[in-house]
Amino acid sequence: RAKSQQRAGHFYFTRNMGVEIRERVRMMHALRTAFSKHELFLAYQPQMDLATRKPVGAEALLRWRAADGRFVPPDRFIPIAEYSGLIIDIGEWVLRTACAELVRLRAAGHQDFTMSINVSQVQFRHPQFLQVLRGALADTGAPPRYVELEITESMAMEEPETFIEMLAQVKETGVHIAIDDFGTGFSSLSHLQRLRLDRLKIDRAFVTEISGASRGSSIAEMVIQLGRNLGLSVVAEGVEDELQARVLQQLGCPLAQGFLFARPMGAGELSDWLEDQARLRA
Ligand code: C2E
Ligand code: MG
Ligand code: MG
Ligand code: MG
Repeated sequence: RAKSQQRAGHFYFTRNMGVEIRERVRMMHALRTAFSKHELFLAYQPQMDLATRKPVGAEALLRWRAADGRFVPPDRFIPIAEYSGLIIDIGEWVLRTACAELVRLRAAGHQDFTMSINVSQVQFRHPQFLQVLRGALADTGAPPRYVELEITESMAMEEPETFIEMLAQVKETGVHIAIDDFGTGFSSLSHLQRLRLDRLKIDRAFVTEISGASRGSSIAEMVIQLGRNLGLSVVAEGVEDELQARVLQQLGCPLAQGFLFARPMGAGELSDWLEDQARLRA
């Protein structure tokens, strides 16, 4: 009985896997083509100072509009880019493009603006990563201390010794480091303390929990407190309404990002948006 069940289970599994794999391979080819045809682009989402409500930076988010005009969400294509190794070239392009945009924004007068760039695990652990990062900084002239790399919690926790070493070298370049989606990865707090981090990003899930009915789970509050205790900056992700912004500010969260303030937008739009913001305050 066990054997036939196993076999049946196995059959079912491989059949679905076949479909899965074909779909992945199809997407991988489409992504490679899109990248070579320069069809990927970056959207930028402003990050705000909660107290002054002024934009202080932006996060670069990768966008892919497929041949049929539809957007493929990064949560779908980034795993494929990682799995196929395409993320190495795409990630370098993201770094260079976002750094170049930072330089443009600075030239337009946004002197204290920071640029946050997502870096995948595969990219970060690649032997050439440091060289790629240094190259992107040098060639674009982006000032490292205004560049922030967003890495994930799980990345920092896997093989921590290698990671700590790598991180130290990355920090030598002068860039800042943020832990993205913080609170979802069960970080070891003792490890966290050993990492030379600059910022924690509270995952959207914990911000969403803050609603009219409740102040939400105390996780957002804990992350804010942890940030303060470790001397790190904290950004709340996915702030969608005013109540969330107020509660977060009351809890001592300095920075926030979300649809309440602005959606991710193209580079040109971001410049216009920043001008509008400045005019609003003038
Ligand atoms: P993330 O880095 O945590 O990015 C935040 C995501 O939340 C973005 O989704 C953003 O559009 C979305 N978001 C921002 N504010 C709100 C809000 O108020 N409400 C809601 N519902 N969503 C909000 P996006 O652009 O789809 O990116 C998804 C993930 O894909 C990112 O999560 C990041 O992990 C990854 N990603 C995006 N761009 C890159 C990239 O250039 N390289 C790498 N390695 N990963 C990237
Ligand atoms: Mg991010
Ligand atoms: Mg995040
Ligand atoms: Mg995420």
